[in-house]
Amino acid sequence: MQHFYFDHNATSPVAPEVLRDLTEAMAEVYGNASSIHHFGQAAKQRLENARRAVAERLGCTDREIVFTSGGTEADNLAVFGIARRPARGQRHVITSSIEHPAVLNACGQLEREGIEVTYLPVGRDGRVKADDAKRAIRPGTVLISIMHANNETGVLQPVEEIAAIARHASVPFHSDGVQVGGRVPVNVREMGFDLYSISGHKFGAPKGIGALFVRKGVELAALMHGGHHERDRRAGTENVAGAGALGKAASLNADWNSFGDLRDRLERGILGQVPGARVNGDTGSRVPNTANISFEGVEGEAMVIALDLRGYAVSSGSACSSGAVEPSHVLLAMGLTAEDARSSVRFSLGPGNTVEQVDGLIEAVVASAAHLGRISPAVVSAV
Ligand code: PLP
Repeated sequence: MQHFYFDHNATSPVAPEVLRDLTEAMAEVYGNASSIHHFGQAAKQRLENARRAVAERLGCTDREIVFTSGGTEADNLAVFGIARRPARGQRHVITSSIEHPAVLNACGQLEREGIEVTYLPVGRDGRVKADDAKRAIRPGTVLISIMHANNETGVLQPVEEIAAIARHASVPFHSDGVQVGGRVPVNVREMGFDLYSISGHKFGAPKGIGALFVRKGVELAALMHGGHHERDRRAGTENVAGAGALGKAASLNADWNSFGDLRDRLERGILGQVPGARVNGDTGSRVPNTANISFEGVEGEAMVIALDLRGYAVSSGSACSSGAVEPSHVLLAMGLTAEDARSSVRFSLGPGNTVEQVDGLIEAVVASAAHLGRISPAVVSAV
């Protein structure tokens, strides 16, 4: 049986051009970028070319790019790097209730360290209100961190408005751009970010490489202490092959807006044929590749398994913890009931998806929903 991939928000395949570049670098460019000999200089050159390519893609200078081990580290470096800077008085951070755990759990750690955190709510549309961010600012606010687009719903947040508010209040603004950066054009300077996280495996580079944009003049406390790599912002021998791959993926100038028509076709097909199917989040303000749909009376996890058996890989926002299916914190924050949140499935498109695959997926969803809808939830949870 053929299998088709509709889970690009979890991770996306390495692009063929990137794979060629990566293989070559792993085989031939093995020097340490800090070494002064020929091999070291070759590695250094590859690293700096990659930095330039990432900077160009994001609209900043190469000195403003710090390579990290991925999105999680970029988010942690931004959150801890700013919030742990020495400051007088009580420190306070503003974030949202729908962030990825890479930000949410970093903020939880800050709270344990005595730093106060405000978690902004979202409406049913899955969007933070910029005015709420403005109202939450107070003396002692050292950071605002609001994601660019949510990984479960794809909903874009009003980051430019929040950036303007943050700038006016002289508070650094970080945005987790992992679901956006590299996939569609983003200009960090024009959009007003002070810090912006990206992750390679979301746009054609391998897992384990990412970057944080740090605007010139923004001081960061390092997370990793060791050598003077990355201008003292991230110690550790550089992952030259990974950085090169990130640079290569960035230079492909992908534009995932082209997946918008396919996503809309998928949504139309499902909503038109599955009674009780509903899209979660603001359909007017989303990344082009993501659809989050609740299927009334059907367990999302069961739908994921049923679709996998028919050859289609999708995901549910629910997390399985100690045998119980926990509903997504994002959908709960949007005001969905636990039952509706548990019935949700995320479809995320990317390179390789075709109209034929989408039509096949629609058929598989319609058949699975009809089948699962007839099974009582008690039976499903026992599957
Ligand atoms: N932030 C968001 C919005 C994500 O979707 C992810 C990954 O799923 C991350 C951060 C973490 O990135 P990484 O897997 O590169 O650590």
